Amino acid sequence: MTTRTKLLRIRTGLRDRHHAELAAIVDRIVALRHQCVRENIPNGLTQTRMRLSVSADEIESFLHDYLAGAVTRLARLENEVQDLIGIDDGAIDHLGHVIYSAAAHGGRRQYALDTCLSYVFDVAHASFGVRLNAGKIDERGSMVVDAHIEGRYAGQIVLDLWHDARKLSAGNHTFGIRNRMDWGHFVQPPVAYISCALRPGEDGDDRLTFSQIRTVFHELGHAVNHILVRHRLPYRSGLEYLPPERRECLSLWFEMWLHHPTFADRVTSSLAEAAGLADDRWQALSRQRRTYLERGTLALVDFDVHRNAQTSLRGSYERIDDRYGIARWYPFEELPTHFVSPRFLEHPGANFAYLWGEAHSCAAFSPLRDLSLDEVAGAASGIRERFQPSFDFSAGSAVPDVAAIFEFHDLAALPVVPASHG
Ligand SMILES: [Zn+2]
Repeated sequence: MTTRTKLLRIRTGLRDRHHAELAAIVDRIVALRHQCVRENIPNGLTQTRMRLSVSADEIESFLHDYLAGAVTRLARLENEVQDLIGIDDGAIDHLGHVIYSAAAHGGRRQYALDTCLSYVFDVAHASFGVRLNAGKIDERGSMVVDAHIEGRYAGQIVLDLWHDARKLSAGNHTFGIRNRMDWGHFVQPPVAYISCALRPGEDGDDRLTFSQIRTVFHELGHAVNHILVRHRLPYRSGLEYLPPERRECLSLWFEMWLHHPTFADRVTSSLAEAAGLADDRWQALSRQRRTYLERGTLALVDFDVHRNAQTSLRGSYERIDDRYGIARWYPFEELPTHFVSPRFLEHPGANFAYLWGEAHSCAAFSPLRDLSLDEVAGAASGIRERFQPSFDFSAGSAVPDVAAIFEFHDLAALPVVPASHG
């Protein structure tokens, strides 16, 4: 038995010790939410239901389409791993090792924050006509970015990127701290506040890893979204009020620009750097491919237990397993811990929203993949049209095409060794 197999067994043993107890607790939490709905007591579940602008049947069929695709794609990924390492049983568990072995080991690669920011600011301008100008860094290390549209001041984004023990959460968030208001004699432009908990690398805080840059692009997508929201309500920030299924569309789309050829042109200046970036991209996409089934199962179980008061976590999982045969890749024991994470607790039943946003953003990004930023600017009216529902909460939500997610990530097929090895 290899060391990797032994370590996997130890991990499984630890996981299995408490999963039944935890599943029972999650079932009680879900049952309480249903009881609150029946008794008209406001709670997270009523809020989710109130804010969604898509029907339960549409969500359910979107999630089944996604899961059916995920099963096919994961079987394909497993074959790729089998071919590479010659292990038939549980080959998928060795994917991390395969990625690690195939990756170029040039140390922890980092990218200049100011170059990455100027690039993503150009993306915002080309696509949405928002001109972002970075101001000075204040004494707390935050950067204030002014936004202009067609030469007129349109709001502000504060980038507060660094870990600070005083921050209440170690997560990354974007808040719309000022909403756009117009009382005639007083106009309040929107202000978005990005709070991250990034830890600077050994080279100082002007250089970030690929995944840290991805976080910054993601949050900046939320911030640009906040600047561009129309039809606001006086007592709610634009971002908060968007239906859950549309909140991640623009943030995930901004992340994708890390995979655009123009990003490589901007941030790399030698063949070795370009190969390093290709490697970072390939690793990120390969890891995402491993999560297809897990994310689909979680989203569907979360949706199902909050739609049907009669079911339990295990009952819902078993129905999915009967239909798709997921247990060999994703056993039930993996499931319960996710349901006590903040994302599941805050928006019960809405975990599907991330996949929904991802499908939307992958479909919107792929036609732009081969364009220069000037050509993107030429195609801007089409881009704005596609994202219209992200800026106007009274617009409807169209069901996005799940296949776009697989097409985007499957570009990183395993037998294609990253360019740095070619
Ligand atoms: Zn987000």
